[in-house]
Amino acid sequence: MTAHEVSRGYEIVVGLEVHCELATNTKLFCGCANQFGSEPNTNICPVCLGLPGSLPVLNERAVEFALRVGEAFNFDVPERSVFHRKNYFYPDMPKNFQTSQYDEPICSEGTLDVDGVTIRITRAHLEEDTGKSTHVGGDGGRIHGADHSLIDYNRAGVPLLEIVSEPDIRSAEQAARYVEELRATLLAIGVSDVKMEEGSMRVDANVSVRLVGATEFGKRCEVKNMNSIRSVRRAVAYEAERQIDLITSGERIMQETRHWNEDDGRTHSMRSKEEAFDYRYFPEPDLVPVEPTAEMRSLVRSQMPELPAAKRERLIDAWAITEHDARVIVDVPGLAEYAEAAVAVLGGGTPKDIVNWLTGDFLGFLNETGTKLDDSNLRPAGLAELVGMVVGGSISRNQGKDVMADALRSGEAPVAIVAARGIAQVSDAGALSGVLEVVFAANVDALDAYRSGDDKMKKKKRGFLMGEAMKATKGDGNPQLLNQLLDQMLEAL
Ligand code: ADP
Ligand code: MG
Ligand code: ZN
Repeated sequence: MTAHEVSRGYEIVVGLEVHCELATNTKLFCGCANQFGSEPNTNICPVCLGLPGSLPVLNERAVEFALRVGEAFNFDVPERSVFHRKNYFYPDMPKNFQTSQYDEPICSEGTLDVDGVTIRITRAHLEEDTGKSTHVGGDGGRIHGADHSLIDYNRAGVPLLEIVSEPDIRSAEQAARYVEELRATLLAIGVSDVKMEEGSMRVDANVSVRLVGATEFGKRCEVKNMNSIRSVRRAVAYEAERQIDLITSGERIMQETRHWNEDDGRTHSMRSKEEAFDYRYFPEPDLVPVEPTAEMRSLVRSQMPELPAAKRERLIDAWAITEHDARVIVDVPGLAEYAEAAVAVLGGGTPKDIVNWLTGDFLGFLNETGTKLDDSNLRPAGLAELVGMVVGGSISRNQGKDVMADALRSGEAPVAIVAARGIAQVSDAGALSGVLEVVFAANVDALDAYRSGDDKMKKKKRGFLMGEAMKATKGDGNPQLLNQLLDQMLEAL
């Protein structure tokens, strides 16, 4: 993982603009439902359609969510912020202006730590989303060549928070990690469902390159249309290389908006970039300034959950697990709490054992079957019970996997499953010695090679014999005991 990437003597400079839809029940300025996937044009009213005479009323919950974001990313949240009209025409925006914030946003000067590097966040401001156009007929949903276009205004007026970073990011990997960390945090504080595939989180990447050591930034291009974190990484990497190609062959970079195409793995020119003055921003006359009360601020502060970064650090320390495992556990909503509940009633084994079982078979099952964590049949106490049996040696690892699968499907308690199915690890020395004798008899060649071989050969053949013995017990042999017996028998050869 590189935080600072240099290619052919050029360094990559990235600033990210992230739009996230706030998970309020209603839209930003009217009472229409904020809901993804409704029948087109059913969540609309005179306000979000911009009909003459209709007046907006600010959604208090959206302000509260913005304050949470303010807390989570160390923003300054000034006493007052102001809505502006951003004027432009597009059919998906019925008012012909977007109500947004301009020079007095609700959050300014925040930070986000990404793998030990602090990325500055310029601002986060509230604005309304536009509707959605669908271009029908012609060439694959593009506006050019389409027969006609359909417009759904359900999304018009849905609250967005636009989070704009400083151009502090220095590699494609770091850009992807910034988005990952931002997303995990927004999810943890409950302000958005941050689904990039559904468009509730959208990332635009401003990319430029400059010679290492240069003090001025290069001309940037804004890349749009990435709908996964993986495509953010790919798009930034591609765009930087494209710009270096141009510069090193003597051409100049034009500031423009470019469209990422997932299929060909390239960015394509869309349009030259508008300047702010083209939008004729002016203060929204129909809305009063946003002035969150002291009560609201302190309520938000008192309700802040532990943030993912802090939670990861705490679990790594307390449970001696890896950064990677901590990330997996913390990224799945509710899984860290589940793990903590299991650890609290642990009867044998370590927290790390709990984490291993969770990140392995358990998550695998949830993903495969599309089961939500809350609906899972195996509860934390059951998992602790299962881990206790495996660590205590009464059932083998493999048997534990079967028992877990059974418990997840049936909802029976692991101890009950073990009792009902008569599962037990073979921990009987006589039985295991018998197994080893059969294995020895069937592998005389391997034994010869062991006897005459050097240390390396001995190790290899020993591993082979152990594998054969485990196979012969169908994985139910107690591995410690089997290992011990095997050593004794090899010594006696
Ligand atoms: P605009 O108003 O045109 O969107 P901003 O100045 O607000 O422009 O910047 C938008 C985004 O572009 C920010 O995330 C910022 O960090 C980033 N940015 C600005 N200059 C550069 C640059 N030279 N290279 C990469 N990113 C940049
Ligand atoms: Mg912008
Ligand atoms: Zn409405």
